[in-house]
Amino acid sequence: MKRDLPLTLNQEALHNGQQRSVIRELFDYGQIKAKEIGAENIFDFSIGNPSIPPPPEVQAAFLTLLQDRDPTKLHGYTSSAGDISVRQTIADSLNRRYGTHYAGENIFMTCGAAAALTSAFRALVEEGANNEFIVQAPYFPEYKPYIEGQQGNFLVVPACPPDFGLDLDEIEKSISPDTRAIVINSPNNPSGKLYSEEELQNLAYLLRLKSQEYRRPIFIVSDEPYRELVYDGKEAPHIPAIYEYTIMTYSYSKSLSIPGDRIGYALVPPNFEGHDLVFAAIAGAARGMGYVCAPSLLQHMIGLTVDVKTDTKTYDKNRQMLYKGLREIGYEVLRPEGAFYLFMKVPGGDAPAFSNFLRDEYNVLAVPSDSFGCEGYMRVSYCVATKTIENGLERFEKAFKNWPG
Ligand code: PLP
Repeated sequence: MKRDLPLTLNQEALHNGQQRSVIRELFDYGQIKAKEIGAENIFDFSIGNPSIPPPPEVQAAFLTLLQDRDPTKLHGYTSSAGDISVRQTIADSLNRRYGTHYAGENIFMTCGAAAALTSAFRALVEEGANNEFIVQAPYFPEYKPYIEGQQGNFLVVPACPPDFGLDLDEIEKSISPDTRAIVINSPNNPSGKLYSEEELQNLAYLLRLKSQEYRRPIFIVSDEPYRELVYDGKEAPHIPAIYEYTIMTYSYSKSLSIPGDRIGYALVPPNFEGHDLVFAAIAGAARGMGYVCAPSLLQHMIGLTVDVKTDTKTYDKNRQMLYKGLREIGYEVLRPEGAFYLFMKVPGGDAPAFSNFLRDEYNVLAVPSDSFGCEGYMRVSYCVATKTIENGLERFEKAFKNWPG
């Protein structure tokens, strides 16, 4: 067969496929190095893979399903939006918690938050228009390929240190008639920031004004995979109760420690006229991407564990130990309120160089903030064994003292 025919590939897809994420690169480096020098000598704070096993109810639910349910139904296709009884169970759970009136029909089951996000972005992109999606830094880097992959424009509002709250003045400046949505991620990956009810009310006020001015709704896409990981007795405000034009994307990846199993949903609350059309567009988008339906076994597992939460005590212990330890060393650290990430300032400000220094001199892996859209910080994941933090802190201390930058 002749092998010299020119290929014509989608360049954006090729670029995304060839470009490695910094997080993945660090993680892979850690895996290879661990084989060389032993896993106990690598201090990997790079990735957001839950470090605690799924709650026992998850395994029990799988066993019950596999033993008791009709296997042809259990492993068969569900409707594209998901099994309606599971969707109703989720809606009932949200209603109990937030005093809302959602129906199963408002919930679209997906392969994790990622599929819910791409489907939502696709649904909001108008053909032939310049469709802008606003994201405030620091942000989850995958938002860029998710948005651009749906022919949306990824528009970044600069980060707002020191506490990384919402910068309403900058958000207002970035809104135009082309704005389709603003992506809100609270608790935030990577900053650990939880936006307050007041900040979100102020955002809702601004979006209502701008929606009226441009005579079209500007949506909030509220990405909430860390909703259950909030500390100090706080709770993440329920954004659809604050702003009517909200699409909420949710995932069980972190709340049940099952990121590889791929299950989540998009909620389109019945809070605005045309919500059924938005829902239909999300269904059409998911269909166009060939998702077919979320994994059936996983949907049914969620039906049996809807109110089960992961035990956040370990994350909380790690959070406090890391926060206190790094501050005592002298690092400037943002107190994490949720998720399992800590954001700290890099002495001297050169985050990629400091990340390399930590890696090469101390086998400590942490992600420079440049890939999250702002410079000068590091993300340190504390979804790790507590021992990794205990031993890792010594290395952070040596790095602080010996860093020439
Ligand atoms: N959104 C944020 C902010 C995340 O951190 C992640 C995963 O790390 C996702 C979405 C995607 O999650 P999922 O595994 O549910 O696709």
